[in-house]
Amino acid sequence: GIVVTGATGHLGRHVVQQLLEKVPADRVTAVVRDRDKAADLAARGVRLAVADYNSPETFDGLFSAGDRVLLISGNEFDKGRVQQHKGVIDAAAKAGVALLAYTSAPSSLTAALADDHRATEEVLVASGVPYVLLRNGWYHENYTENLSPVLEHGAVVQAAGEGRISSASRADYAAAAVAVLTGEGHENTAYELGGDVAWSFAEYAAELSRQTGREIAYRPVSVEEYSGILRGAGLPEPLAAVLAGVDAAIEKGELVVSTGDLARLAGRPATPLAEAIAAALKD
Ligand code: NDP
Repeated sequence: GIVVTGATGHLGRHVVQQLLEKVPADRVTAVVRDRDKAADLAARGVRLAVADYNSPETFDGLFSAGDRVLLISGNEFDKGRVQQHKGVIDAAAKAGVALLAYTSAPSSLTAALADDHRATEEVLVASGVPYVLLRNGWYHENYTENLSPVLEHGAVVQAAGEGRISSASRADYAAAAVAVLTGEGHENTAYELGGDVAWSFAEYAAELSRQTGREIAYRPVSVEEYSGILRGAGLPEPLAAVLAGVDAAIEKGELVVSTGDLARLAGRPATPLAEAIAAALKD
């Protein structure tokens, strides 16, 4: 069967949704921490397995030989994500799965945020499990789901200078993952995934202005100022530093992905940023 971890997360839900358009529900297993959160998936006939990255033994016996697995990277930055992911990879290796795809980060990204991904990739490649590295670029939603302060202040405040980002929607990255999980010939491959068009924050602000009819400007700030703003908004210092580090990486062009891998795997163009903005403004 096809097994998806993090299935009740934002990306995981898109993946399961799109899998159900291609394969019978009883061939899909959603790995979740909280069964109640997955009641809607169970109602659609998806199998549920309960496991936690922090308890590797909960993955014992979860996989079967020949399974195709999507390991969606965790979001608990303070809990040692590499160890968490290693527990899943070890269980998959022991079971003899046919494929394990991991949601990583672009190889061009040197920011601290990418360290766990690089280390997980190494564990996976060394495990001997046929792997696919889905090196996901940035989500449109990282920005479009956080529009309130932008609309409130009439400003996009970032520390990325004129740097550009090849973002795509979560649904696009899910489509690439589904293509790998349901297709052939992807073993031991790394895909660099991103949107079709790289945009700058000045262009983002201009598009927001166009769609809202209001004046919204890009206000580039220094990395120090930006992390101060994030801390002021209540983010813990380590997270503020990580996010400011991402902006510094963006300024250096590290989140530009121009391989075309995403559109090729999805079999269609990636969702334009303007479409994600329109969807967010409608909510
Ligand atoms: P979400 O935060 O929505 O989902 C994370 C998923 O991981 C959830 O399903 C969560 O379970 C699961 N998870 C976290 N910790 C554990 C654990 N200890 N045991 C089992 N499951 C766990 O993120 P997205 O779906 O939007 O993105 C997927 C991943 O991609 C993120 O976790 C992060 O690693 C990375 N990411 C990528 C971004 C990008 O722009 N490319 C931006 C942000 C994150 P539960 O549903 O129970 O909470």
